[in-house]
Amino acid sequence: MTDKTGAVWTLAEQFGGRLKPVSFELLTRGRFLADKLGVPLVSVLIGEAVREEDLEELIQRGADEVLAAEEPRLADFVCETYARILTELILAHKPAVFLAGATSSGRTLMPYTAVKLRTGLTADCTGLDIEEGTGNLLQIRPAIGGNIMATIKTPDRRPQMATVRPRSSRPPEKDPSRRGPIRRIIPEDRLLQSETRVTGYRREETGLINLEEAEVVVAGGRGLKKGENFGIIRELAEALGGAAGASRDAVDRGWISYPHQIGLSGKTVSPKLYIGIGISGAIQHLAGIKTSEVILSVNIDPDAPLHQIADFGIVGDAFAVVPALLKRLRRGGGGKNAADLGQ
Ligand SMILES: Cc1cc2nc3c(=O)[nH]c(=O)nc-3n(C[C@H](O)[C@H](O)[C@H](O)COP(=O)(O)OP(=O)(O)OC[C@H]3O[C@@H](n4cnc5c(N)ncnc54)[C@H](O)[C@@H]3O)c2cc1C
Repeated sequence: MTDKTGAVWTLAEQFGGRLKPVSFELLTRGRFLADKLGVPLVSVLIGEAVREEDLEELIQRGADEVLAAEEPRLADFVCETYARILTELILAHKPAVFLAGATSSGRTLMPYTAVKLRTGLTADCTGLDIEEGTGNLLQIRPAIGGNIMATIKTPDRRPQMATVRPRSSRPPEKDPSRRGPIRRIIPEDRLLQSETRVTGYRREETGLINLEEAEVVVAGGRGLKKGENFGIIRELAEALGGAAGASRDAVDRGWISYPHQIGLSGKTVSPKLYIGIGISGAIQHLAGIKTSEVILSVNIDPDAPLHQIADFGIVGDAFAVVPALLKRLRRGGGGKNAADLGQ
């Protein structure tokens, strides 16, 4: 595996025959790298009976080609089988770069496949680029507890493999005029043998909305002053049908658990609406919210950095603003401006 001129591949993920959003997000990263290298971008999918429209959408959003390995036994993700098929495809086509989402299946499949191919893998990259002169993939990710940004290279092995945080980039716009080949492959029977059988799926019954999937995220910070006050963050999140998040400071103080932390050393969110309450907007926090569609900041300090990058800012005391928002939401009315909130 020393061919350095190969294509850039991204892994498209499916569940129940429908593509997951991460499949499209990866095309943004892949397109950038493929254009820099001057090579094609190929989206690779393993599954069963994925809709033709979905595969066409991969092309419309930036892939030059789609490679779909399909068979009824591939409907569910089984690491050993998927890895076997990927390994065969990679050995046959020799891509230079292979990217997948840092999802639970991506995080399982990529290390397994990298070991089989005896190549390197960088998990959870926040940045990817191409090195001038060598064409090597620069794999950038926080290291040593987030204190430095490390740039990792795989100069001698191919493909160069990396996983990328879901939601850390927006999918490219759809261009319905884009066309490209969609190749559906039926893998050989020997590749499909497995001791593992998926017997079913059960939805997690915690009643909590997944922060990374939520359309509305309400996050609280040190401005809430103490743990008991975090209740207003959860209440507002619930009233908006969203999820509660937090700054690292709030998590470090034990006001809310680590899975709720947003930022460089926490989760990346990309909701339609992010509301930051009593959060100053440190660069490490902003790293986790920058792909949000609309950002609303509630902060007593008009110069707080979060206000500077927010689409809307309410300069005010969280303990006045949040109850007023809740009152208004529960009444079902919509105020026209912040002053209405005081009513
Ligand atoms: C390596 C490293 C990794 C990090 N990773 C992360 C990360 O993943 N996520 C993260 O969030 N941070 C991270 N941090 C920490 C980050 O630098 C900040 O310290 C942290 O985000 C600050 O949290 P905060 O905004 O809640 O607190 P502060 O910066 O103290 O801000 C509190 C804000 O509340 C406002 N306020 C006070 N009272 C009120 C009130 N009554 N009503 C409204 N507003 C009020 C204040 O004006 C202030 O702006 C990291 C730091 C390092 C060094």
